[in-house]
Amino acid sequence: MALKNSYLAGLMERVEKRNPAEPEFHQAVHEVLESLEPVVEKYPEFIDSGVIEMLVEPERIIKFRVPWVDDNGKVQVNRGFRVQFNSAIGPYKGGLRFHPSVYEGIIKFLGFEQIFKNSLTGLPIGGGKGGSDFDPKGKSDAEVMRFCQSFMTELSKHIGANTDVPAGDIGVGAREIGYMFGQYKRLRNEYTGVLTGKGLTYGGSLVRTEATGYGLCYFTDEMLKAAGKSLKGATVAISGSGNAAIFATEKATQLGAKVVTLSDSNGYIYDENGIDLDTVKKIKLEERKRISEYVKYHPNAVYQDGCSGVWTVKCDIALPCATQNEINEASAKALVANGCYAVAEGANMPSTPEAIAVFQAGGVLFGPAKAANAGGVATSALEMRQNSMRYSWTFEEVDAKLKQIMADIYKNASEAAKEFGMEGNLVAGANIAGFMKVARSMQAYGVV
Ligand code: NDP
Repeated sequence: MALKNSYLAGLMERVEKRNPAEPEFHQAVHEVLESLEPVVEKYPEFIDSGVIEMLVEPERIIKFRVPWVDDNGKVQVNRGFRVQFNSAIGPYKGGLRFHPSVYEGIIKFLGFEQIFKNSLTGLPIGGGKGGSDFDPKGKSDAEVMRFCQSFMTELSKHIGANTDVPAGDIGVGAREIGYMFGQYKRLRNEYTGVLTGKGLTYGGSLVRTEATGYGLCYFTDEMLKAAGKSLKGATVAISGSGNAAIFATEKATQLGAKVVTLSDSNGYIYDENGIDLDTVKKIKLEERKRISEYVKYHPNAVYQDGCSGVWTVKCDIALPCATQNEINEASAKALVANGCYAVAEGANMPSTPEAIAVFQAGGVLFGPAKAANAGGVATSALEMRQNSMRYSWTFEEVDAKLKQIMADIYKNASEAAKEFGMEGNLVAGANIAGFMKVARSMQAYGVV
């Protein structure tokens, strides 16, 4: 939808011109600027101070060559990125994504969203994101290690426990974090909490592995509770079968829901008896195989090629946990037609703007990624806190903090939506609540 405010419309045009051929970044900026229309009407000083103009431009973009040698002795070259988007309220914080689709526009969209998400957690973390077009799939452990070491050799010059603290994302899990932390420590000769998602034996936090999926379910439960509903007894469709999806399945099941689908980039599984998570963990986490293997262990379940089919399955609640723009208008219509009454985003920007419009018009409760999946980064910030104190909290302590943070995020986003006359619109509420703290801090700094 075109922006009504002439300043914001002009700014959007400048963003598109300055960042050509980056549609995901344009999409992310447009959504935030749309939410800010009533904010700049009430507080025109955000325009006069140039805060929004500065906010859409990353503080720094680092782009580098990542050469490494494969198992056949052949030199391979990938491209690495770190976008240090905004440090108004704390060190840059955000994951690293290793996936062949990665280019500057993807990292910019993710880094931009991270600013508001991190602010929403209430913790002192700025926004950043990074990654590479390297594909860990099908690579040996030794190849992944050599790649990670080469990647960190350059990245280590730009990050630090008080500057920029990366974490995992698509294609970056415990194995990759271990190789990168080892290389950082070796290069810098210092043992600091420069990465989060670390192993428990070397400074990791309990619950970090589970945090994105668990946090998503805690948020969903808050959203449902406010509407007099609950996860208990609900049928849930989940996409993806990585970190976010697996632990969303675990927590949704613990809270009494029945999860009936999971997927990967090839296809999806449907198990009407409820997904058996032990099988999924064995296939995905131990064997690193495809989700289609699931039906070998559960012949009653079905596997279908094509990942978007997952949204044609009848469900009460949908939790997209794979990747950006995985739910388009047609998928959103299929969900609504099948009676789905709540959607909460585990992945970043998984719903297209057209899909969100379908959900909102259909009265579907909608939890946007910035709010719903903030549990991952919030627990990363708790890992940073424990590293600074050289102390470890128990699983129960971290889990309780995560639960409270997700409840606060829901409350703040819904109150902000209400304050600006858009009650129930958590997209606007999350954007506005996240924006206010960052914008006020930037105003205090002046033009920097
Ligand atoms: P993983 O690498 O662990 O898993 C990614 C999953 O998504 C895999 O099942 C993968 O399938 C699938 N997938 C990836 N790309 C595509 C695609 N183009 N089409 C269809 N399926 C795809 O990553 P995470 O679980 O960590 O990340 C999933 C989402 O959650 C991302 O959007 C990420 O940004 C978001 N997120 C993650 C956080 C975290 O803490 N890990 C925190 C906040 C958000 P395949 O194996 O076939 O590629």
